Amino acid sequence: MEHIKDCIAALREAAPEIDIAENELMRRHTTFAIGGPADLFVQPKTRRELTAALAVLRERNIPFLLLGNGSNMLVADAGIRGAVVCTSELDEVRVNEDNTVSAEAGALLSRIARRAQRSGLTGAEFAGGIPGSLGGAVYMNAGAYDGTMAGIVQETEFVDGEGNICTLKGDEHGFDYRTSVFRKHPDWTVLRSTMQLQNGDSAAILDKMNDFAQRRRDKQPLNFPSAGSTFKRPVGHFAGQLIEQAGLKGTSVGAAQVSEKHAGFLINRGGATCDDMLRLIELVQNRVREQFGVELECEVRIVK
Ligand SMILES: Cc1cc2nc3c(=O)[nH]c(=O)nc-3n(C[C@H](O)[C@H](O)[C@H](O)COP(=O)(O)OP(=O)(O)OC[C@H]3O[C@@H](n4cnc5c(N)ncnc54)[C@H](O)[C@@H]3O)c2cc1C
Repeated sequence: MEHIKDCIAALREAAPEIDIAENELMRRHTTFAIGGPADLFVQPKTRRELTAALAVLRERNIPFLLLGNGSNMLVADAGIRGAVVCTSELDEVRVNEDNTVSAEAGALLSRIARRAQRSGLTGAEFAGGIPGSLGGAVYMNAGAYDGTMAGIVQETEFVDGEGNICTLKGDEHGFDYRTSVFRKHPDWTVLRSTMQLQNGDSAAILDKMNDFAQRRRDKQPLNFPSAGSTFKRPVGHFAGQLIEQAGLKGTSVGAAQVSEKHAGFLINRGGATCDDMLRLIELVQNRVREQFGVELECEVRIVK
């Protein structure tokens, strides 16, 4: 596509060292291991490259999708028209003297939690086993066990839809169950967040993280590609329990399957297409609605 070539030239002019790939298969960048080619896959290595790339895409009206670690995304088999901007190389994590930790968008939660633990800071243990980046976790208000991002994120620096660098503090994040203000503004790009933690005991923090990790290994099908819990928790119920009670454990569409180990996880048994997964999602939603009158809403972001 001609306008893509022009766009690559403009990106190279604005950020000569930036990594750009054409027709990059999204299945290589999502934990579902599903998804066709993105026209453009842009991977900035510095904050300056990121802001320059966003400016070029905006000026040329090229639609773009922000990608962290791809652990909460189901991407179409036809792939993505436009650009994917992957933040994974922007991954600085800094522990500050006031018991805060600041991290760039692409920093993995597991690294942030480990840095906090080694510095004797408690509050981020819940995040240790969530396979996402800081940016994706703020967008989703990721949470597990006794914590959520809402509970620790104090401040976030982001680029808005006009290219301005802005800051959100506290309640301005609009955190709620698996959502934040960023869901309403998909072109807002998290650059960095600062998290408030507390003094704690490193050994006790490590014990807690190990306990959470063991619970995941015991309950979750971590040996298959997935995006974690496919559905949000419906009020008053657990999605996995309803799916199991509907007799759907092990149900497959093509290579997409309701996990035998945890019915809340839909897994890719190997070579599943997005279409397989979407049909399985619909089958599960229909069956649970018919049997229990409960609507299961997808937690995973579907990119079609
Ligand atoms: C095995 C497994 C277990 C999981 N367990 C949990 C769990 O316990 N709790 C939980 O909450 N989740 C869980 N998840 C889901 C997932 O890890 C989280 O939702 C995580 O926060 C997603 O982060 P990510 O970087 O992978 O986001 P991505 O999947 O890359 O993106 C998710 C959304 O965030 C947006 N986004 C990404 N980066 C930015 C940015 N810089 N600025 C603005 N928007 C951005 C994307 O555009 C997209 O809309 C699990 C997933 C797996 C595979």
